[in-house]
Amino acid sequence: MSRNPPQHGARRQREAGGLRRSRGRFGAVALAVAGLLGLGAGAGTALAAIDARVLPESAASPGTDVGAQASPGTDGGSDASARASSTPSPTATPTPVVTPEPTESPEPTGPVLSAADLSAGLLSTAEPTAASGELAIVAGNVPAPDPSASSIRTVRVEVEVGLDIDGPVFADMVMASLNDPRGWGAGGTISFARTDGDAEIRVVLASPDLVDAMCAPLNTNGIYSCGRYGHAAINHTRWVSGTDEFPDMTVYRQYVVNHEVGHLLGHPHETCPAAGELAPLMQQQTIAVAPCLPNAWPYPDGL
Ligand SMILES: [Zn+2]
Repeated sequence: MSRNPPQHGARRQREAGGLRRSRGRFGAVALAVAGLLGLGAGAGTALAAIDARVLPESAASPGTDVGAQASPGTDGGSDASARASSTPSPTATPTPVVTPEPTESPEPTGPVLSAADLSAGLLSTAEPTAASGELAIVAGNVPAPDPSASSIRTVRVEVEVGLDIDGPVFADMVMASLNDPRGWGAGGTISFARTDGDAEIRVVLASPDLVDAMCAPLNTNGIYSCGRYGHAAINHTRWVSGTDEFPDMTVYRQYVVNHEVGHLLGHPHETCPAAGELAPLMQQQTIAVAPCLPNAWPYPDGL
């Protein structure tokens, strides 16, 4: 299972290249400094003495950046131990003990993502109204889990560039929702394969602005999603924070994938049959679930 798209590897390679370049640059600086040192030594005793005082210090700082941190680190360590042994005052020792890091360690930045958020591909809880307007296909091909199903449908997953989403993780959740035993393929009727080439169904996660554009003239109002024109366009803001109609974020996310793909498979809206029953998947549950109960599956019993 390779969850990392090629871009990740490429980025790592670029970073590694950058690192190598940095080292090379610092290496060149070190060589130049060494050359100057040699020049100074050969130029005369007085000049050599000046260079010897000045240049080694300037040569030491690039060395520290390059990663020759061992030497300054070692120096610092021996300095510290020298200080500690020469000044074993009882007041100096308690000071660092009194200030441990209980205030520093619990300092996560931003809201914490839940396990459900992580498995939905969220990398942050940011909810931009708009992003780049460009879609990126999630790379990869995953065969239909039930090759003997009556119908194999191809799905391509796309994410708007600029959204804080892990595309392959999002794609995994989409495909797991579609291929669930309670999903549209219940009873071996359909099995969904993921492709990054041409596909019958596109599942797109996009900012509210782009969803509105992709769904027009249907008015999705910056909050709704749609399933038309061959794509299920899912509103990223809702994907992040859901709706009050769904107490469980995972149920909401499974619902919106299955509901919008349901439209692409030709299924119209339905209404709540009776209070207290599970809502039909094709009920517009993001508008109102009641008096039914939230439900993410076309065949909740797997039949
Ligand atoms: Zn609908």
